Amino acid sequence: MTPTSFEELALAAPIKRALAELNYSTPSPIQAQSIPILLEGRDLLGIAQTGTGKTAAFSLPILDALHNNPQRPRRRSARVLVLTPTRELATQISQSFDSYGRHLRFKKTLVFGGVGKNPQIRAMQSGVDVLVACPGRLLDHMNEGDIELSGVEYFVLDEVDRMLDMGFLRDVKTLRIALPKKKQCNQQTSCNPRSARCLMNPASVSIAPEKTTAEKVDQAVCFVDKESKKDLLLNHLAEQQGKGLTIVFSRTKHGANKLCKSINSHGFEAEAIHGNRSQPQREDSQPFQRR
Ligand code: AMP
Repeated sequence: MTPTSFEELALAAPIKRALAELNYSTPSPIQAQSIPILLEGRDLLGIAQTGTGKTAAFSLPILDALHNNPQRPRRRSARVLVLTPTRELATQISQSFDSYGRHLRFKKTLVFGGVGKNPQIRAMQSGVDVLVACPGRLLDHMNEGDIELSGVEYFVLDEVDRMLDMGFLRDVKTLRIALPKKKQCNQQTSCNPRSARCLMNPASVSIAPEKTTAEKVDQAVCFVDKESKKDLLLNHLAEQQGKGLTIVFSRTKHGANKLCKSINSHGFEAEAIHGNRSQPQREDSQPFQRR
């Protein structure tokens, strides 16, 4: 039977206490279905959108396992590896581990590009329980001998579809080869998987999106000539004055910079955010506001 409260799940008491403090009473559908399977030690393929509670779905059973089987991690290695495509996601996942594991003792670190390597090397020297990483920087450290994956017991591949879209396929394949054969694998994707090769006889949990778009977002389509696109956007921004902030998506990084300059020159406060910007620049970015 699907559990309807966290009390019904076989999670350790300190984890349940943290969930109660966070006011989590009912497991979301992906949590109710995934957690019992992962607690049994089986591999899992989870298909669910962001925002459905999938971080807790994979992190709670991992925290439970670390609590029940405390061991010193191997030097330069981690007992848990969570691989995720972006720094922002890595940071969120790391914060979730901190929240759910607030009453447990475990060592955790983050590894991603755009910031210095040395603090990451130092943090990994004596090994960690949980490593949340983006593929590119993790491979750099491995190639330089600063991190190795032989101690990994739990492997989570988060947002696989996005990882592949971002061109990480080769990196992910290389990382997989470096992992030990015996480990529990959990692959998370928001649509049907194009690759589930690391999973051994996995259970599969699929949560259909309850709604395809956010309820509070009004949607409209305007067909417009390329030359008029900018004027239309500027009119729209002027109309939106005082109603909130605006995000404009652009196809290319160069296009985002150009558009941002142009919006600025028309008296709006605008910042571009994309992969060529440094991490501090990304974190400082604020959406458009009239100066
Ligand atoms: P995620 O899909 O993991 O990014 O989670 C989306 C949001 O839902 C996060 O803000 C979580 O803190 C929150 N959340 C996850 N599971 C639950 C739950 N069972 N009850 C209440 N909030 C939750």
